[in-house]
Amino acid sequence: MTRELLLMSCTARGLGHHVTAVRHMILTVLWKPPAFVMGSSDDIAQVEKDEDVCMSDKMIARYWEKAEARNVRCLLCPHACHIRPGRTGRCLVRKNIDGQLIANAYGEISSMSIDPIEKKPLKHYYPGSSILSVGSYGCSLSCDFCQNWTIAQREVATSLVEPEQLVRQAADYEHAGNIGLAFTYNEPLINIEYVMDCAQMIRKKGLKTVLITNGYLNSTPFLDLLPYVDAMNIDLKAYSQTFYKDICFGSLKPVIQSIEAASKSQCHVEVTTLIMPGLNDQESQIEALAVWLASLSPEIPLHLTRYFPAYKRADPDPPSLSHMKHLADLARKYLTFVELGNV
Ligand code: SF4
Repeated sequence: MTRELLLMSCTARGLGHHVTAVRHMILTVLWKPPAFVMGSSDDIAQVEKDEDVCMSDKMIARYWEKAEARNVRCLLCPHACHIRPGRTGRCLVRKNIDGQLIANAYGEISSMSIDPIEKKPLKHYYPGSSILSVGSYGCSLSCDFCQNWTIAQREVATSLVEPEQLVRQAADYEHAGNIGLAFTYNEPLINIEYVMDCAQMIRKKGLKTVLITNGYLNSTPFLDLLPYVDAMNIDLKAYSQTFYKDICFGSLKPVIQSIEAASKSQCHVEVTTLIMPGLNDQESQIEALAVWLASLSPEIPLHLTRYFPAYKRADPDPPSLSHMKHLADLARKYLTFVELGNV
């Protein structure tokens, strides 16, 4: 079995089924995988064997503490997973190996694409530019409607791409309009060590770091990372604790805090809400969301994107275009920029 990089022409929110042959073709040319990826199955087996032998070389995670016996507690996101040896936390990527928390997805790339920046979606940040976009696997939330579940809700095949290699690749395509690196497709914050290492390097090249994220992080690591991030689109799944608890298996407050912190920083911030009829699209909820966002700044762009059934959900039906427009008009009473997506 090969460990080929998955060249996925997906985007972070619901466009995964719109595969573009052109972009795939570009990527096939762009992507220069590590030698072992293209090697024979014997080579690959050797790499896997080496990884087992060299487990001590794996990146030790930040933000955790020892618990009883050889258990650990992860302090990265509000789940505060208590993890036994050999197990991972809920995000699938932070693993207890011999009583130490390991950033198991460090440098593990499942997906790579050059995307228009508008597709992140970031509509008000270097419009017309492109960005080298990469994903890994795993997520800190478990939304039953996950639009990118094929890499966010399970472990998938990956290729190891060291930060130097990724940054070099981004710089190589600056002449073609690439402004930097976007960490997207799955949740990047669970791979904070890798994002931070790449972000520091890419800034030295004069390029940008962009995150497409659920914002579900504890405030200490979020504030540590924030100075290295140039732009973010943060998902606000709903302006409702009940929705976060029942449908995403998380909570609203940490996301609110992340958006607030980012909006007060130098980072460019845009926010996205996926509209799910009957679940988060009540006028009162959209209005409350817009009022709150405007209290941070009426200039923060809000993207209302159209839900399509995915992952564990066959319902509800996607919202009608007229309903989307109505909600956008409502939000425009408070916000300067309200965009529709997936329509
Ligand atoms: S980052 Fe992962 S392991 Fe850590 S608390 Fe969150 S879900 Fe659990």
